Amino acid sequence: MSISARLVAASTLLSALAFPATAQTLPQTLPSKEQLANDNKLFVFWANKALKWEEPTEPVGIIGPIYFVGTKGLGVFLFATSEGHILMNTGMPSSGPMILDSIRKLGFSPKDIKVMINAHAHIDHAGAFAFMKKLTGAQVAIMQDDVAAMESGDRDDFKYRDDLAYEGVKVDRVLRDGDTVQLGEVLLTAYHTPGHTRGATTWIANLAVDGKAYVVAFPDGAGFNPGYRIAKDPSYPGIAEDYRKTHYRLEMIKPDIWLAQHNEYYDFEGKRKRAETEGVRAWADAEGYRRFVAGKKRAFEDQVDDELGAPSRSR
Ligand SMILES: [Zn+2]
Repeated sequence: MSISARLVAASTLLSALAFPATAQTLPQTLPSKEQLANDNKLFVFWANKALKWEEPTEPVGIIGPIYFVGTKGLGVFLFATSEGHILMNTGMPSSGPMILDSIRKLGFSPKDIKVMINAHAHIDHAGAFAFMKKLTGAQVAIMQDDVAAMESGDRDDFKYRDDLAYEGVKVDRVLRDGDTVQLGEVLLTAYHTPGHTRGATTWIANLAVDGKAYVVAFPDGAGFNPGYRIAKDPSYPGIAEDYRKTHYRLEMIKPDIWLAQHNEYYDFEGKRKRAETEGVRAWADAEGYRRFVAGKKRAFEDQVDDELGAPSRSR
């Protein structure tokens, strides 16, 4: 198998490796799918490098109160309101100072962050929660089934055990499916969409901007990484049912705009470029969201087929 084909097979998370521009810059000693599945530290090393998780990038306003303050690869979002701010995700442990820079560049103060929320308790989204909480004193609100992982710094992960641990953070508010987080003009609803982690959370923002209503979705939970087991010898009991429930949940959402925890999922760079001339319209992508969810569902069923030794349906 070619290098890029091997990595595409390895994970949807690593899909950006298949882009020629990225592949050229990588050495020839790329790990195999099996190596990525079996060696947690190797996996995160390659994902980090290939998807530029720790490289800074410019912040940008998306729509109304929503701002991107993440890295080249990772989605971190600020919801700026008249009563203070909500921060969604924190990237890697090294991302804290980058997020602070981005918030200040936008003219906001990190000290005004009142609430911190998360997509799921892995190191690439939860890595700098402790750092940001120390600085802001913000309330940390987390979906029930990810609370233990956030507090321990993911030291008992069903796949990664303590290989991808980070500094844990105390959770102040435990969320359940359908709970809301409200601050000023921003209302966010948390949906429990487990699978990728037990407490993975999809967030929906309902906004009114310039007299128009918008549903903005931040889908999560449907991705699986190399080495996750679903059908045979499952990574945790009930994981297949969790994923299927999550697919159903994500299909029910009809967003005007969708953003994601990994920038390549929704062509952040392309949309950002187009937004320079088109404004908010560049971010509107209801069809892209449907394709994304359908793709995740198909990849999941292919994985099930692979594990059961059946010929896959979509490949
Ligand atoms: Zn993850």
